[in-house]
Amino acid sequence: MAPSDVATTPVDLVSPTWEYAPAPQAIDVVDIASSYGLFIDGDWVDTIDGSETATLNPATEEELAHYTVAGPADVDRAVSAARTAFNSWSRLTPSTRGGYLYRIARIIQERAREFAVLESLDNGKPIKESRDVDVPTAAAHFFYHAGWADKLDWAGLGPDPRPLGVAAQVIPWNFPLLMLAWKVAPALACGNTVVLKPAETTPLTALLFADVCRQADLPPGVVNIVTGAGDTGAALVAHPDVDKVAFTGSTGVGKAIARQVAGSDKRVTLELGGKAANIVFDDAAMDQAVDGIVNGIFFNQGHVCCAGSRLLVQENVHDEVVDRLTDRLSTLRLGDPLDKNTDIGAVNSAAQLDRITQLSATGEAEGARRWELECAIPTNGFWFRPTVFTEVEPSHTIAREEIFGPVLSVLTFRTPDEAVAKANNTPYGLSAGVWTEKGSRILEMAARLRAGVVWANTFNRFDPTSPFGGYKESGYGREGGRHGLSAYLKPAA
Ligand code: NAP
Ligand code: MG
Repeated sequence: MAPSDVATTPVDLVSPTWEYAPAPQAIDVVDIASSYGLFIDGDWVDTIDGSETATLNPATEEELAHYTVAGPADVDRAVSAARTAFNSWSRLTPSTRGGYLYRIARIIQERAREFAVLESLDNGKPIKESRDVDVPTAAAHFFYHAGWADKLDWAGLGPDPRPLGVAAQVIPWNFPLLMLAWKVAPALACGNTVVLKPAETTPLTALLFADVCRQADLPPGVVNIVTGAGDTGAALVAHPDVDKVAFTGSTGVGKAIARQVAGSDKRVTLELGGKAANIVFDDAAMDQAVDGIVNGIFFNQGHVCCAGSRLLVQENVHDEVVDRLTDRLSTLRLGDPLDKNTDIGAVNSAAQLDRITQLSATGEAEGARRWELECAIPTNGFWFRPTVFTEVEPSHTIAREEIFGPVLSVLTFRTPDEAVAKANNTPYGLSAGVWTEKGSRILEMAARLRAGVVWANTFNRFDPTSPFGGYKESGYGREGGRHGLSAYLKPAA
């Protein structure tokens, strides 16, 4: 075709009037009760000394359900049910225990749609993430640990390792079902029984999991779920008949728990906060790196302990990376978490939104340059636009403190030594990312970065076979893989 034949009326292919059609996920697959009791000894029970509160849908601020805030007597009842159940659960043949875990894993798969919708309603995360990441990974944790139940002699603790007893497990709101799976699956596979406290803003998938335990005919008392707030968690962790404490949450609460159990015989694992460096060298495959940066910090609204919240980019490619990044971010869609095209959902709570807002204001006040996605924000609910700060100095608050939201701080480096020094210049040490074409550089960086997980040319990959955990103020102990089993076992006496 000659140039003169080309249509002269330009067709505006990127007109803002070209929009995705709504793709709403049906929510009638879930059946939310108007109020929930506690799940203790295989049954729903009323509280003895607790109270009631409600959980909200953070995208609309509407109440989803009322649930129980367990008091100390409720916690005591749950721990005693777990203690009684431990006597028989720990003596089951390992393959029978494994069978229960396989059954739970399969039921989670069968009810995956229900779990994904409920998680997005209660937490605010996009349905495509709860559907494609949270729920399948939760099922994978049960499958993986089911396989370990009769192979514990090979866990690295010598022949016939023993379970610890009753595990008190306290989890946060960012991956409610997945954190439950990380905790419950290894505990049960190793022959322990559990009392789990979900976060106060996201109790619903844990309560649905209670139903799964019943469906799987899990013996009563092996899994107990006590909903509530921080006081319920504190009462559970402090209970004298608890043998093991497994906590995921903030470094502040983690330190308080460490102080609380110091001097007792309780075994403790703490999975705490992070401020990960995502390091991009000038030889990295740029398109992949830019997608990895986006996934690293904007996945799950940045409510990810191992989020790549500090981008360290080699100085000579800084402008190119930032340009490509903001171009890419401009295509993200913020809005209804139940729409299958949504990339950025709601922030989980008003309190978390305040924290993100305040820290971002501090970033600007301290001199960093702010860019944010231009997009409409729904009138109700808790929302924060994806935000990128450039011209960030290592001393800035936004380069040091965990924001736990969709906010990226961009810093630069010139040499690998400088990248390592800046990446390690944090009280945390949970994760890091390295983007480069050179395998030798990946290996060198991985050895020098003080982080529990180092991703190479990828980010935010989770797999039950791989141990996860931190250095320094990111906590201690590992979850997942063979290493994670040792947190729930002791060598035979
Ligand atoms: P959080 O305030 O520490 O809460 C975590 C859990 O602990 C919640 O169930 C909470 O109950 C409970 N809790 C609060 N005070 C307690 C106390 N004194 N004793 C016992 N339990 C208590 O943390 P969050 O704000 O929910 O979660 C965000 C933090 O978790 C971030 O710092 C993030 O980095 C970290 N995190 C770490 C990992 C990891 O694997 N390393 C994974 C996810 C999140 P309430 O819900 O009622 O407050
Ligand atoms: Mg909620």
